[in-house]
Amino acid sequence: MKDNYAECIELMTRRGITLEDCAECTHFLQAKYIKGLTMEECVKVVDEIMHDRDIQNAVIIALELDILAEEDTIESTYIKDAMMKDEGLFGVDELIGLGMAFNYGPVALTSFGYIDKIKPGKIGELNTPKEGVCNTFADDVVGAIASCAASKLAHA
Ligand code: MG
Repeated sequence: MKDNYAECIELMTRRGITLEDCAECTHFLQAKYIKGLTMEECVKVVDEIMHDRDIQNAVIIALELDILAEEDTIESTYIKDAMMKDEGLFGVDELIGLGMAFNYGPVALTSFGYIDKIKPGKIGELNTPKEGVCNTFADDVVGAIASCAASKLAHA
C-alpha cells in the first residue's frame, strides 16, 4: 500500500489544519511531563506520526466525510444532519480518533479522551459551529494526531 503522506498533508491544509496546530495540542498534553519541551520537538514527532499509514488512512477518510457532509452528498439525511450539527451523541468521529490512538497505547488513549473534553487551540476552533461548514471529524483528527504524538514523546 502506498504512503499517502503528501495527500494527507494536502487534505489537512485544505481543511485549515497544519502540523503546527497538532503540535500545539501535543505541547499542551505533554509539557507538564517533559521539562523544556519545545514546539520544534512537538512538530517533529507530529510529522513522524503523519508517516504512519494507519494514521494517514484514518485522516483521509475522516476529512473526506466532513467534505461529503458539506457538499450534501451523503445519502442518509439522518447522518448528514448529525454531522452538520455535530450532534453530541453521534460519536463515530470520536471512535475514529480512538482508533487512531489505539495503536499508540494507553498514553494516547487517555490523552485523546482528555483533549476531547478540554478542546485546546485548533480543536476548540474547529469545534465552534460555522454555517455550512462541517468539522465534525476534523477536531478528532487533530486531537488524535496530537495524542499519538504525545504518547510517542512520552515513550522516547
Ligand atoms: Mg468531533
